[in-house]
Amino acid sequence: MLYFDSAATTPMRPQVLDAMLPYLRENFYNPSAVYTPSRKIRAAIDDSRLVIANALNAKTEEIFFTSGGTESDNWAIKGMLERGRHVITTQTEHHGILYVCKNLEKKGFDITYLPVDGEGFVRTEDLEAAVREDTALVTIMFANNEVGTIQPIKKFTEITARKKIPFHTDAVQAVGHVPIDVEELGVQMLSLSAHKFGGPKGVGALYVKKGTPLFSIFQGGAQERNRRAGTENVAGIVGIATALQLATDELPMQFARVTAMRDKLIHEIISTIPHTVLNGAKGGNRLPGNVNISFRFIEGESLLLHLDMQGCCASTGSACSSGALEPSHVLMAMGVGHELANGAIRFSLGPENSDDDIADLMKILKPAVEQLRALSPLYDDFLKKEIS
Ligand code: PLP
Repeated sequence: MLYFDSAATTPMRPQVLDAMLPYLRENFYNPSAVYTPSRKIRAAIDDSRLVIANALNAKTEEIFFTSGGTESDNWAIKGMLERGRHVITTQTEHHGILYVCKNLEKKGFDITYLPVDGEGFVRTEDLEAAVREDTALVTIMFANNEVGTIQPIKKFTEITARKKIPFHTDAVQAVGHVPIDVEELGVQMLSLSAHKFGGPKGVGALYVKKGTPLFSIFQGGAQERNRRAGTENVAGIVGIATALQLATDELPMQFARVTAMRDKLIHEIISTIPHTVLNGAKGGNRLPGNVNISFRFIEGESLLLHLDMQGCCASTGSACSSGALEPSHVLMAMGVGHELANGAIRFSLGPENSDDDIADLMKILKPAVEQLRALSPLYDDFLKKEIS
């Protein structure tokens, strides 16, 4: 099996499972109980919080455990709404942000969706112009999940700091893959999710800078210092910390390794398969594992099915709604035309991939594209025009 979908989820590292198992077996006690066995469980949560805080250059009291990226994103926005009726975000966010904003619009909030340029970057002048007196929050993703574009977050927080507006970034695709320092970035909130860096699904965290006026969205028990009610997912919390520690220790080595594989795959596809276009950032500001390519004259979905039949997993950015294939909102915002957007595929690489995987992928990708183009009326028209 060839797995090129690490941006969707990653396999859990064996050390992570080993670290979690005792908390699913003998160390089952409620961390809030007063008896002695519970103290060990509380200590495991405290230790895990310290690991996450150190990895992000945060303080332990600034880390709150959640059920994943979606909850962290929801909390960061909904917990800020008492500050004002206006939220600024971008057109290319993950649905965990975008759909929260769309829903808020229905409730009478004003949302500014900043546009992006052809490589997916938000322009600082657009953010500067969008800020208002009643802006409650600016939320701009650290790195895009479809095209891998890494935003210049520090430039944005220089603007919001001047205007005293809290800034949140969805860093779900970035944490564990690129160095992140919340102090240097100047963000007030940052979302992360364990299953994107070798941890378990269903656990994440929200960094909340001390003094940020964030309200709770869950009411109930006093867990997470009264900010996020609900008995802690202890095994998951141990899992996210173990995974982030491993990813952080290996980051310099894996960053270089995965980036080299990414560039090799981009080069191989663009140079050996005609009529292919790289989507997203052309320079260095791209996630190490992201390759997003449009194959002209064919549907990305058809190519994915072809690859799947040969044991290769990748994905597109398209969502199939009411029977119609909707092109990716990210590619549309970047001004990629319908045809190219429909022919886009994301291959996302991780530490588990190797150069051999790339060689194996190229062996099946080229004939698959050729076969689909042979059946494509668009390609037929193109060839006829070329000849005439
Ligand atoms: N934000 C981004 C950028 C993502 O890529 C994802 C997952 O695909 C999420 C948020 C949601 O994270 P989770 O699956 O942990 O809810």
